Amino acid sequence: MAQVRRDRWSRGRVTLLGYAGYCPSPMSGQGTSLALVGAYVLAQELGRAPGGGHRVAYARTEDRMRPFVAANQALATENPGGPASEEPVDRV
Ligand SMILES: Cc1cc2nc3c(=O)[nH]c(=O)nc-3n(C[C@H](O)[C@H](O)[C@H](O)COP(=O)(O)OP(=O)(O)OC[C@H]3O[C@@H](n4cnc5c(N)ncnc54)[C@H](O)[C@@H]3O)c2cc1C
Repeated sequence: MAQVRRDRWSRGRVTLLGYAGYCPSPMSGQGTSLALVGAYVLAQELGRAPGGGHRVAYARTEDRMRPFVAANQALATENPGGPASEEPVDRV
């Protein structure tokens, strides 16, 4: 098993969400939750960005999603060989 951690999720007009961006492993689980929350936050930030500026929206989305993604990825290493934790992911 490996956990991919990307330094950045966006370049130019392209941004990554879900599996492509957050790379949850089978050990961490939470892949669907991360994908749905990422899409929701991105849609919100695109709506808020002045003039629909995608660069601002991408940066704000990344700021908001980084801690949530890191906390979920950490489930993999916190539970080596075991099932995903039943604790809430907002404890980190
Ligand atoms: C066996 C298994 C069990 C899982 N169980 C759970 C679970 O219990 N709970 C959980 O939260 N998560 C689970 N996951 C993870 C979850 O399925 C993923 O995290 C989630 O589906 C990611 O969504 P996504 O939209 O980012 O990617 P995907 O669901 O992979 O969607 C990507 C889509 O892009 C399409 N695509 C690819 N390339 C191209 C292209 N060039 N052009 C156009 N379309 C393209 C693909 O066909 C696909 O439809 C599981 C995954 C697997 C494999």
